[in-house]
Amino acid sequence: MSKTLFEKIIDREIPGDIVHEDAHCVAFRDINPGAPMHILLVPRKPIPRLCDARADDQALLGHLMLTAAKIAADQGHGEAFRLVVNNGAGAGQSVFHLHLHLLGGRPLKWPPG
Ligand code: C5P
Repeated sequence: MSKTLFEKIIDREIPGDIVHEDAHCVAFRDINPGAPMHILLVPRKPIPRLCDARADDQALLGHLMLTAAKIAADQGHGEAFRLVVNNGAGAGQSVFHLHLHLLGGRPLKWPPG
């Protein structure tokens, strides 16, 4: 199987502005930011969509949430941030490697578009 775009960033085959990495995930700045802080948090495991995750991914998914909150704090936005997962093309997903959008640094309105 060919690598996803995000696997290539994780493997340093294409450039990414990486802000965090650990044994389970890598986080890098979105190339087209929608907020002053717009970071993509990506598991090393290439799960295509959130709906493809399985019960044995539970710890990994929890790790992503906790890591997102830590990155937000590290970036100075620990008290006001948003996490978004676009699941499927109909919800705006364009890269089919599960990722959390971590947004902050400006007022965030609700509901999103
Ligand atoms: O949720 P979705 O799949 O649409 O998000 C993909 C994100 O990946 C987009 O926000 C896009 O700007 C970002 N991207 C990136 N670097 C690339 C290609 C896409 O940060 N080389």
